[in-house]
Amino acid sequence: MIQRNTTSARQPDPQQGIERCSRRQFLKLAGLGSGALAAGSAGTGALLHSEPARAVPTSARIVIVGAGAAGLGCANRLKDRLDGAEITVIDRREPHYYQPALPLVGTGVWSPSTAKDSNARYMPAEVDWVRSMVAEYDPDNNRVVTDEGERIEYDYLIVATGLELRFDQIEGMSPELIGSHGIACVYDTPDHGERSAQAVQAFAQQGGKGLFIRPPGDIKCAGAPLKVAMITEYLLRQSGARGRSELHYYPPGSSMFTQPDLDTFLKDYFPGQRGIDIHYHHRVKGVEPEAQRVTFESDEHGEYTEPYDLLHIPPPMSAPEPVRESALAWPEGEADAGWLEVDQHSLRHRRYPNVFGAGDVCGVPVSKTSASAKSMIPVVVDNLVDVIAEREPSAAYSGYTSCPLITEVGEAMLIEFNYDLDMVPSFPFIDPLKPQWTAWVMEKWLLHPTYNAMLRGRIS
Ligand SMILES: Cc1cc2nc3c(=O)[nH]c(=O)nc-3n(C[C@H](O)[C@H](O)[C@H](O)COP(=O)(O)OP(=O)(O)OC[C@H]3O[C@@H](n4cnc5c(N)ncnc54)[C@H](O)[C@@H]3O)c2cc1C
Repeated sequence: MIQRNTTSARQPDPQQGIERCSRRQFLKLAGLGSGALAAGSAGTGALLHSEPARAVPTSARIVIVGAGAAGLGCANRLKDRLDGAEITVIDRREPHYYQPALPLVGTGVWSPSTAKDSNARYMPAEVDWVRSMVAEYDPDNNRVVTDEGERIEYDYLIVATGLELRFDQIEGMSPELIGSHGIACVYDTPDHGERSAQAVQAFAQQGGKGLFIRPPGDIKCAGAPLKVAMITEYLLRQSGARGRSELHYYPPGSSMFTQPDLDTFLKDYFPGQRGIDIHYHHRVKGVEPEAQRVTFESDEHGEYTEPYDLLHIPPPMSAPEPVRESALAWPEGEADAGWLEVDQHSLRHRRYPNVFGAGDVCGVPVSKTSASAKSMIPVVVDNLVDVIAEREPSAAYSGYTSCPLITEVGEAMLIEFNYDLDMVPSFPFIDPLKPQWTAWVMEKWLLHPTYNAMLRGRIS
């Protein structure tokens, strides 16, 4: 039976405004809330079985490609749901990056150590961890080939490789430039985040002209470019350099954010409250680091260059090359071309029924956050177990995603929505469209433990 896991607290209640909630009350509620949040994405995102799961006996060979947020969560959850399965996880990467910390690391607010962890801490002892990268998918023959030439056969495959940062799509740009020539980017490793922080912090002291880019296409944590612009504006105010600074934000189209209520809010809030000018329909063509100039392609102004003192430049993003070059990708001409072709609700591949996807690699209409990965993991695991047990897949992902949109240090907005772009707030006492300290407290204290629990497969 499919049961929608609802809570009584889906809509904000104006009678329960945060102004009426003391810090003591909040922390009490947050204690409950962390449970709600831990369940929240599953609660709002997944339609799950209500009966407790019993381990299904099987000798199936299951390969999970990628040991990031989604891959580790799937591995840990799956090993408890199956008895006798041979589970292999393929990923060469040993460090684990807690990426939601990167906007704060890359602006110098938090230390890089907050984003650094180790995959070995979360890898279940029961699985075989192959430290290679998959170079080729051969779904017609149920096998993958690693970059060391090893062929690994499977009965079932979960693709959880995240996405690829495409610095190569910006002329003159490379990740090595982060931290030099006024170039910042919080999207890469924590070490590059530390260098990004040096550029942001130097600018925050001196002031000048700061340009903040939102690249075209699907990106992970679409709130991060906004967060970096707002944190930088805050740092300038703190240092006293705001008066000698101008800040500009460049979205590729006519919107600031996918969710329409937040989009409307930001179009007013950026120029009105934060003094950040918005320049719609701008795409970056290239960077001249030595000259500190960026070349834009603009619908209105054509191609032109702009000097900068600080440039926050997240690159365009795509599925990793082995996925986008494989038969598993959505074909050219489709909205999600190049991303993994899964059904947006079952997360099962649309043409290869023994293949599932989890996390950023999935070609689905919204998402690409660890909050959505957290909602996807139980769906993928439930559906895979169903298929192994010769049942119809019974779980469905609603597109739940969330982002604590940091507006300044000590203040944030907790934005949660689904495929219908409806707001689905987990906390009734927090107005999602009002920057406030409660959402910051969640960002600082609750989200990382919740994330680590997800890696261990603990999603209620
Ligand atoms: C700056 C920034 C801020 C963010 N803020 C938030 C936030 O506030 N809230 C939120 O919910 N989310 C946030 N996110 C997004 C979140 O971190 C990602 O959505 C989440 O990590 C996706 O999980 P994943 O498993 O799909 O990918 P990842 O966690 O990136 O893991 C992918 C793994 O796959 C491996 N891999 C790649 N290719 C191969 C291959 N060919 N073979 C084998 N292994 C491979 C990689 O080595 C990696 O270990 C943020 C991300 C960034 C960058």
